[in-house]
Amino acid sequence: MEQQTTQVLLIEDNPGDADLVRLRLVESKSPVNVNCVTRLSEGLDSLTRVTPSVVLLDLNLPDSHGAETFRRVMEHAPNVPVVVLSGQDDEALAIKAVHQGVQDYLIKGNISSKHLERSIRYAVERQALLRALEMTQKQQLDFKNQFLSHVSHELRTPLTCIHQYVTLLLDGLAGAVAPDQADHLKTVLKSVNQLHAMIRDLLEATRAESGKMRIEPRCIALGELIQQTVAMMRPMADEKKVGLEIAVDQRLPLVHADPDRVLEVLINLVDNGIKFTPSDGAVMVQACVVDADPSSVYISVTDTGRGISPESKALIFERLYQDADAVDNNRSGLGLGLFICREIVRLHEGRIWVSSEPGQGSTFTFTLPAYSLAKLLAPVVTNNDRLRTSFVLVRVELTPLLVPPRGNWKQTWQQCLEILRRCIYLDKDLVLPAMGTSGAAETFFVVASTDMPRSGIMTARIREQLERVPDLKAKCSLTIMAAPIELPSNISGQTFSSQSLEQQVEALASHVTGMITSSMERKQLRPEKPIQDSN
Ligand code: ADP
Repeated sequence: MEQQTTQVLLIEDNPGDADLVRLRLVESKSPVNVNCVTRLSEGLDSLTRVTPSVVLLDLNLPDSHGAETFRRVMEHAPNVPVVVLSGQDDEALAIKAVHQGVQDYLIKGNISSKHLERSIRYAVERQALLRALEMTQKQQLDFKNQFLSHVSHELRTPLTCIHQYVTLLLDGLAGAVAPDQADHLKTVLKSVNQLHAMIRDLLEATRAESGKMRIEPRCIALGELIQQTVAMMRPMADEKKVGLEIAVDQRLPLVHADPDRVLEVLINLVDNGIKFTPSDGAVMVQACVVDADPSSVYISVTDTGRGISPESKALIFERLYQDADAVDNNRSGLGLGLFICREIVRLHEGRIWVSSEPGQGSTFTFTLPAYSLAKLLAPVVTNNDRLRTSFVLVRVELTPLLVPPRGNWKQTWQQCLEILRRCIYLDKDLVLPAMGTSGAAETFFVVASTDMPRSGIMTARIREQLERVPDLKAKCSLTIMAAPIELPSNISGQTFSSQSLEQQVEALASHVTGMITSSMERKQLRPEKPIQDSN
């Protein structure tokens, strides 16, 4: 069989060393093609265009030195085997290189042709095996996730049926139920609910693991979500005689987060708090801003329960982790709750951690980004370090014809939101996050860096695209309005244009916030002065 030519990318700035390597390769008599470059930037550029069989890499180049050199090559071309050719006999550096995925570390002065040829051959083989192994692991993971997702979906249907019939029996709709029969049915219902929760966790964890978990951030008041969580968990706390309290900072800013997902995190943490706290203990949900980090909101759930050992603390957010003594008869759950919480918080670019001592209770804390309109607006309302000149606020309102809305209303408004995002110029317009938790009517605002005449083209396009959504007209009425955003002529006594760019963006953001608030309030009172209709 014909031997394949080995394509070598040699990154070496010393012409003498490069010639020597070429000579060794020729002496080895295996078919080889060498492309030699002298700078790391040229090597990276070449890797972008062609994939060689192997990279032979000198570490000290005119534009990069030492470990940084192989780190950048590996980052650029993670699938290509790299063999370091170094003048330095540095064992620590060699080990570091191998730990980072370099296949071999050869000392220039000691290389024979046979040695070099073998090192390249093994490097190529090992890299191919590694890739095959990774591929198999990925396929296995995909298969497992698909299987779990499929099974979980299938299990949900019969469970829903059991739930409906047990509820029907309990409500006496199929005839009178004796008190002890009602007790039995309640036990069945409790188990069905537990199974439901486990299946939901399995589905969520599978989604998170395969990167399919999505969030739809809105501009929300956390206090309301915390109240909602506590109201939902109160019966469980009362049944166990565990106190459940709230302490929310009055000056809490709005947050930029997905309310359904945040509710999931809060419920999981409070549920654990109650589960792991004995009767007469307490669980407290707090939310505050910390001076050192004003762009985040800190939310914590503290319990007076059994606490967590240092060993468990290190593992607690891992998938399927459960403390050995947590797995007793009173416990339900699969060890997925905290894993799901961590993934949700990560998607919000927040952090989650626990502080706890055995026997001293635990505090789980997570952060969410505070809502900053200025931060969201900055990339689109500025150009070349200057504020753009004209802006328009577009308001798109979807009001369901029936309350509560017919069909899957969330899916409908999400579809409309996607369309809105496709109708704007991403570099100079912004669809603002929806306000509040998803209610019946949905109002979306767009800040467009344009003037009124041109905004008409945008609003016409939005209307045309939205009206194409099947069934939209049967489900809701659509109102689209636009108004110019008049910038204030001065801020805190100084002319607007003499302010720094940051201050100008802040002023614009606060002006837009004012317009949105008064536009929403006017709507609630009467539409006497609507923002000018685009039609
Ligand atoms: P599960 O659904 O099984 O509760 P979680 O991921 O929510 O799984 O929790 C994992 C483990 O973390 C639990 O089994 C328990 O050992 C520990 N844990 C979680 N919350 C607390 C808490 N508030 N106090 C003590 N241990 C806790």
